[in-house]
Order: sequence, then C-alpha cells, then structure tokens
Amino acid sequence: MNGRNRSLQTRELKGISTIRMNLRKKKFCHYCRNVLIEKFFEGRLRLFCQRCNEPIYENPIPASCLVVTDSTDRVLLVRRSVEPKKGFWCLPGGFMELGETPETAALRELKEETGLDGQIEMLLGVYSNPSQLYHTVLMVGYLINTYSGIPIAGDDADEVAFFHYDELPEIAFESHMKFIKMYYLA
Ligand SMILES: [Zn+2]
Repeated sequence: MNGRNRSLQTRELKGISTIRMNLRKKKFCHYCRNVLIEKFFEGRLRLFCQRCNEPIYENPIPASCLVVTDSTDRVLLVRRSVEPKKGFWCLPGGFMELGETPETAALRELKEETGLDGQIEMLLGVYSNPSQLYHTVLMVGYLINTYSGIPIAGDDADEVAFFHYDELPEIAFESHMKFIKMYYLA
C-alpha cells in the first residue's frame, strides 16, 4: 500500500465509529442467496436484495437481565468468559430465544450462568445498549430478591459473586449499570 492510500484509508477509518468497525456485515440475501447491495430505501441506507426486490430490515436484538439481591442487599454479578467484554463483570442475563418471554429468558440465563432458580419481583426498566457485535441491544431488566440454590459459575461466566453497591467492579454494559442504579438509587 503506498503512502497516499494509507493516509486515505486512515482518514476513512477515523470517520467510522469503533462500534461499526467490529460489526460483521451481511453479504447475501438469506432467502435467495443473491449478493446484497446498499440502497437508500424508506428513509435510510439499508441492505437490499435486488432479486427479491426487498430491503433486509435490521433491528435491535432483544435481551433481558436480572438484578438479583441477597439478604444483605448485595447484587449478584457474573464475570464474563466470552466476548464481548470478556473478563468484565455484568448482571446475569442474555438474549431471548424464539418462543421465550423476556421473563423466561432471564430466568433461563440465571440458571445457566449461576445455577440459581429465581422468582421475578418486578420490572426495573427497558433500555437500548450500543453493542460492538450486534450494533444495538434492547435490554429488559428485572428485579429478583427470592431465589434458591448456591451460586456457581456456568455458561459464559467464570466467576459469580455478590457485591455491595459501594464495592462494585467496572460493569460491562451501560444498561446493566443503569438497572443497578435504578435499584439502589431510586
Ligand atoms: Zn433475495
């Protein structure tokens, strides 16, 4: 690569957010396998299949998470063993599967990541969270203060522990921190 091209490329890359740079782009229509183009359609630039004559609509990915508190008012966190944000702590939770409600998804993830069975107390809120891998995640947060079992790290987690609010480690996702603050500061 010559110097001019390199500086051009650097300038172009600086114009793209770091979130965009990590996203994998869809290349083919998932109905007919045609190569997708980008086309201004219905008010924004979208991926478009010329053979189907349809845009590929892309939406935030729904996920749910849990603020689980113990008898001394500490909050349960898991340390992530997978990307994104591997090694950071976050609330138990994850993506909804087809046929699940946000509640059943959150309780399934709690069981998988911590071994606990929980009972949802109330909805804390709904936020959208920028994501390095998925662009935008729609996050639904619930409160649990009744659970059974002993916390043991499972799927996607290599450690699980309760923390007092004033001893929290850095939290992986801004939406998770918002739910924690909603519980402690509301
Ligand atoms: Zn197509």
